[in-house]
Amino acid sequence: MKVELENLFSIDETSEDQVINVYNRHGIAIGAPEIRKRNLKTKFNPIFTLNEDVTYEKVTALYESLEREFGIVSIGERFYFEFSDIEYERAPLFTLNSTGNSPEMFLEDKGTLFSLSTHCKCCGLMDKEQLSPIVIDTTQMKDRHLVHVNGYWVASEELVSLMKKENLEGYELLEVIHQGPEEGKQPAYQIIPRQMLPESSKDRVKLYFATEQPPCSCGLNGVITGPDTYHHEDLKDLKGDVFYSAEFSHDGLYLYRKTLFSRRFREAIIKNGISREVRGEKDPNFGPTDWLFDPVLIK
Ligand SMILES: [Zn+2]
Repeated sequence: MKVELENLFSIDETSEDQVINVYNRHGIAIGAPEIRKRNLKTKFNPIFTLNEDVTYEKVTALYESLEREFGIVSIGERFYFEFSDIEYERAPLFTLNSTGNSPEMFLEDKGTLFSLSTHCKCCGLMDKEQLSPIVIDTTQMKDRHLVHVNGYWVASEELVSLMKKENLEGYELLEVIHQGPEEGKQPAYQIIPRQMLPESSKDRVKLYFATEQPPCSCGLNGVITGPDTYHHEDLKDLKGDVFYSAEFSHDGLYLYRKTLFSRRFREAIIKNGISREVRGEKDPNFGPTDWLFDPVLIK
C-alpha cells in the first residue's frame, strides 16, 4: 500500500520553478505538475508519495517554507491510498468506499428516527441509534443497486435477489420506508450486518491535515484513517460476507460503523456485471455506477 499526498494551491506563474525548488530542497521529488492557468495565478497540484524518506513531518516543514518564502498559506491536501495487485488478490475483506463515481450514490434521509447522544464534548461528535427503518425517496434510486444513506447501505430488490442466489450470508434486511412520489417507487432494503469484526490492528495508518487544526483528543475528528488493517489471526475463523467494523467512522457530525464485505461478495458483484472491477479511484474503470472496494490489509 502506498500513501500519496496531493497539494493544491495557487502561485504566480513566474515563481513556478522556485516553488519546485522548495520541494526539492525538502527532499520531495515532484514530477512536472499539472498546471492549470487562470488569469495571472496558476493552479499548482503536485502529487508525491509519503514513505520513510518523505514523512509527514517533512511535509509540514515544507509548508512552513512555502509560507515564509512565497506567502502561500492556503494549501489544499488530499490523501490517496494505492494498493498493489497482490493486496487486491489476497485480501479476505474489502471496504466499500463508493458505489459510483457520482453524487447520485448518496441519497438524502427523509426522516429516519434516531436517538442522539453526545460522544465527544470537545468536538461535539454524536452517537446515533437507529429507531425506525430508513426513510428515503426510493424513486431517486432509479436503476442503482446500492445507495448510501447517512453511513448505511440500501440495496435494490435486484441486488437482494443476487445476494441470495450467490448464497452470501451474515446480514439481515430491513425494508425502507418510501417517502416521495408514487410513480417510480421501488422496494429497497437496508443491509444490516449480523457480526462485528474484531478490533483492527494498531498498525493502521493514521494521518491528519497539517493545514487544519490538530485532531481532537477523541481520536476521531480531524484524523484521516488509512485502510482497514487486521491481524491475520483475528480473521482466520471468520464466516459470512457482511460485517460491521468495531471502530467508529464519522461524517463530521455523527458516528457510524462502516460495513465491510467479503472477497466472495466483491467477486459476485463483478461476475454478475453489477460493477466493473475497479482498483483505486484513479482507475479509468471507476465510472458513475462502478463500485470502489479497497482491500483490507493483513499484518
Ligand atoms: Zn472529539
